[in-house]
Amino acid sequence: MAEQVGEVRAVVFVRDGGCVALRIDSKAGPCHDAWGSPLGWRVLSGMEMDYIRKRSTGRRHELASDHVTLCPGHHRGMGARQGYVWATAHRPELREYLERWATDDETPTD
Ligand SMILES: [Zn+2]
Repeated sequence: MAEQVGEVRAVVFVRDGGCVALRIDSKAGPCHDAWGSPLGWRVLSGMEMDYIRKRSTGRRHELASDHVTLCPGHHRGMGARQGYVWATAHRPELREYLERWATDDETPTD
């Protein structure tokens, strides 16, 4: 299972190329690491994977098109933004983003 999660993570990270928050929401603000320090949105080593769609019920983390790449700041919220979690507030937008990939065999369209 751990190996499987690693594979999905690699596909998701390469597909997104970094935190997707700013691409979906121009007001998302800068990316941050788990300690609240600024983090480049393309620094994949600091990114996390968020599980958005429930398409793979019972087979959680098997489908790359169910996940997005987010920095810890946009994924969980922290520091000055604690209390407001971008990922939670933008569930519909994240699902919409994933729809683009799910219907296109996970090939980039833009
Ligand atoms: Zn971010």
